[in-house]
Amino acid sequence: RSKRRGRGQITVYSREIAQEMKRATQLEQALRNAIISDAIDVHFQPIVSLSNNQVVGFEALARWNDPDLGFVSPGVFVPLAEERGFIDALSEALLRKAAEAALSWPRDLFLSFNLSSAQLMDPGTSSSVLSILGRVGFDPHRLELEITETAVMSSADTAHRIIADLRAAGVRISLDDFGTGQSSLGRLRDFIFDKIKIDRAFVSRINSDRASEHIIKAILTMCDGLELEVVAEGIEDYAEAVKLRTLGCGMGQGYHFGRPADGIATLRFLHENYYDPAVAERVSA
Ligand code: C2E
Ligand code: MG
Ligand code: MG
Ligand code: MG
Repeated sequence: RSKRRGRGQITVYSREIAQEMKRATQLEQALRNAIISDAIDVHFQPIVSLSNNQVVGFEALARWNDPDLGFVSPGVFVPLAEERGFIDALSEALLRKAAEAALSWPRDLFLSFNLSSAQLMDPGTSSSVLSILGRVGFDPHRLELEITETAVMSSADTAHRIIADLRAAGVRISLDDFGTGQSSLGRLRDFIFDKIKIDRAFVSRINSDRASEHIIKAILTMCDGLELEVVAEGIEDYAEAVKLRTLGCGMGQGYHFGRPADGIATLRFLHENYYDPAVAERVSA
């Protein structure tokens, strides 16, 4: 009897595993089709200067709304594309779209783009990024690439070479999600980063948890000494923005300033929120 129950359990588990595998395969097929048919979109979220609330750039965020599957998070489909070996095709299409959209923005605004960890293991990444920028006609000095520490550590030599080549062409490098995952302060000694993005996990607790406030203060002091720019991610309300500005954090990003929005809505946002110092100077002269 117990034997039979055991066998029954095995059947249940294997059926669940089979279903899970089937779902993953369906998702993979749908994602491949979406890439081929150019159905993955890119949205943009403003990054502002905390001293005057002026927008200084936008982060590109991938969006996939499938007719059958509905909205699929980039937190799901980006890792899937990495696992199944087609992150290059996805990322190239996204960078091309993002850079094309950014051509319509004022020239002093930057575009920030997330590079996946798999791309930092591929020696072809720097030339691929630069050739896309060349084809689109987007100045590499206006591009920032967001990477995570795990990505740099997993294939250190290749990653360092890619980063050096991109920086030599004028691209800036941001360290994303700082303070989470396998953070190692030692990485900062390599001077391969231009900017640090403090993870939302600290920012969201800055007014309720003394520890988070102290950690953010320490990060800001350290970045000041290392001459790194700082962005606080995930600012959701006015009190957080005020606190971070008071502590001397240079830039902020989060729902308080603007949610990720499509290319058209981003142009509308700029129309309503962008203050052009050059135009203001001409008018007052
Ligand atoms: P990330 O690069 O750290 O992006 C920030 C995430 O926080 C985004 O989630 C953004 O929508 C969300 N966010 C921004 N402000 C707030 C806020 O005030 N509150 C809260 N709760 N969330 C906020 P999203 O768009 O779902 O992206 C998740 C992750 O997927 C990204 O994290 C990034 O790691 C990855 N990803 C997104 N687009 C791309 C892409 O084009 N390429 C690659 N390789 N990865 C991407
Ligand atoms: Mg990012
Ligand atoms: Mg982040
Ligand atoms: Mg993240």
